[in-house]
Amino acid sequence: MRTRFAPSPTGHLHIGGARTAIFTWLCAKAQKGKFLIRFEDTDKERSNQEYVDSILTSLSWLGIEADEEPLFQSSRQAKHKEIALDLLNKGLAYSCNVSPERLEEVRKIQQQNKQQPRYDGFSRDLNLPHEEGNVIRFKMPLEGETSFEDKILKKISINNKELDDFIIIRSDGSPTYNFCAAVDDIEMEITTVIRGDDHITNTLKQINILNALEANTPEYAHLPMVLSPEGKRLSKRDGALDINEYKKMGYLKEAMINYLIKLGWTYREQEIFSEEELIKYFDIQNVNSSAAKFSQKLLDFYNNHYLKETDINSLYAYIDKNFSLSDKFIQNPKKIEIIDLLRVSSNNVIQIIDELTIFHDDPELTEELLTSIQIDKDLLEKFKVELEEVNFNEKLLIGVFLDNFLSKNNLKFPILGKPLRLILTGKSKAPSITDLLFLIGKEVCTNRIEKFLKI
Ligand code: GLU
Repeated sequence: MRTRFAPSPTGHLHIGGARTAIFTWLCAKAQKGKFLIRFEDTDKERSNQEYVDSILTSLSWLGIEADEEPLFQSSRQAKHKEIALDLLNKGLAYSCNVSPERLEEVRKIQQQNKQQPRYDGFSRDLNLPHEEGNVIRFKMPLEGETSFEDKILKKISINNKELDDFIIIRSDGSPTYNFCAAVDDIEMEITTVIRGDDHITNTLKQINILNALEANTPEYAHLPMVLSPEGKRLSKRDGALDINEYKKMGYLKEAMINYLIKLGWTYREQEIFSEEELIKYFDIQNVNSSAAKFSQKLLDFYNNHYLKETDINSLYAYIDKNFSLSDKFIQNPKKIEIIDLLRVSSNNVIQIIDELTIFHDDPELTEELLTSIQIDKDLLEKFKVELEEVNFNEKLLIGVFLDNFLSKNNLKFPILGKPLRLILTGKSKAPSITDLLFLIGKEVCTNRIEKFLKI
């Protein structure tokens, strides 16, 4: 098996493209085949090296590497033209000089007659000599149908009359996508083509080119779209982000992979897959034939899972290497324990980092914060005095002290816990009081309480 991922380097790699890449890569790995990359960079105006680099960076972050050097389609232009001229000489394609005005006229008439606009084959049998400025059109069979058995969508077919004699070489001499893709799939000896279902019509055209070139047709698997949660095109807010952005937000590679494959693929009831399991179980035929929907919640669920699952020292090293941590935090002797606590309730590393400030910066006692803190100051004073006597070396002892203080004073937890959390962190949602006291430390905690009492 030889599969390929063929991005056009006209933009970054997004969720949909990354999913196609992973499915294509897994498909090859599951069959011990080869996974290749082809950059379809024939659109000179829109393609650029920045996107090539960005796509490769995204893929390599996900652990997807090509088994052979990536092929750049633009480097094969001469070959594409040579093959097109060969088709022309064999009478399987023809030169066409129909003016844009005539094409437009035909289109208008077809529209008036409620017909699908298509080239009417005007030059098909004129045998025009091929001159500069002419296009070369492919001679579609006039009879019969073109069909293939899609690995996901099952049988797809079209009456050949529906497909017009499409252009394979433009008037400026450049070859078109459908022609290049078919020719390069032959060159790369591709056995399985996996791509979005927006390419189905292209596949039907490409099969005809492959037939004309007497090449074997590969197997095809067309992936249904990834839509927004509302079933619309993905927008920036819901998944149309550069994959590299997810890395910057602190999504872990394992979470991203797990999430991407769940966009359409299921295996029994299993939710979490290691790479080995994916390679073992993946089968492109089991991809769902209806559109997948992007869900930030599910991505967060996977990331939270892997944040908690990763060995804490490795996670710390990863965060330290890829994100900027403040010097104050790096010098904190409890930094590993702090990350260990915060990861439990975080969806990504940036959220963890945002929370770190509570451990080394006193909360700003704004008017708004002060009015939300409801506590008897005498009680708080008593708490502070007793807290100063507690052994802070053991978290357990802090917990015991808290329980005793509450029962001795006949208090329900929120009476003390709620205001104390606000005083210590400035936030109403933060880790447990015991964890906060232990990780912020006795001195800083008593200082923060003191500061509040003095107002
Ligand atoms: N370059 C096409 C795209 O980015 C992919 C075509 C293909 O896989 O053949 O949609």
